[in-house]
Amino acid sequence: MTAKGVVTGVKASNRIELAGQKFGRLTAIRPHRKPGIEKLFYECACDCGAAAIVGSQNLRRGMTQSCGCLQKERAKAASLQHGMSHTPIHNTWMSMLQRCNDAQCKAYMDYGARGVKVCDRWMTFENFLADVGLPPQKGLTLDRYPNNDGNYEPGNVRWATKKEQANNRRSSRMLDFNGETLTVAQWEDRRGFRRGLIHCRLQMGWTAERAITQKPRYGQTD
Ligand SMILES: [Zn+2]
Repeated sequence: MTAKGVVTGVKASNRIELAGQKFGRLTAIRPHRKPGIEKLFYECACDCGAAAIVGSQNLRRGMTQSCGCLQKERAKAASLQHGMSHTPIHNTWMSMLQRCNDAQCKAYMDYGARGVKVCDRWMTFENFLADVGLPPQKGLTLDRYPNNDGNYEPGNVRWATKKEQANNRRSSRMLDFNGETLTVAQWEDRRGFRRGLIHCRLQMGWTAERAITQKPRYGQTD
């Protein structure tokens, strides 16, 4: 006997009808497709009255349970306790949560919708502060590093300048070649190239195909 509602595999999730079901504060209304994105989204109504577009997997796994109002309430309650609301580190923490959990946040499409998560431990500001610490200087941003595609979790963040962050992002730029889509860094690993070679080549105006296929000459450093 199979427990009700148990599905296996990613494919199955696309076939399960979620309309009418309740997930935390969200009620799924109807499926929503985004152009160019394979995964399925649902148009949802939040108990607070707001609407939100949420990935069906995020709904089913309980990752997203409100339009973002739940996070905001929790954060507010937490900030009252630690007295650090409106400090830069607290803003950093709030924006991180919003990018990953708030379907109404502009950046959500590049974070939460793509499966980037904040680890459970960092849902609490005090834990985040204890692990990450205050930024060593002004103007730094929280960067996912070394894995720019990974989650916000201990061991995968650093304080970076805007320039460092941009460089990190560029190495995670996606490149299509031969029917495959990999990051620049993954292509470099695949081809046995030194880190940064393909990135340099693209900056010099090479096509993706040439940048990926052409072997560096012996002794060539760029
Ligand atoms: Zn809400």
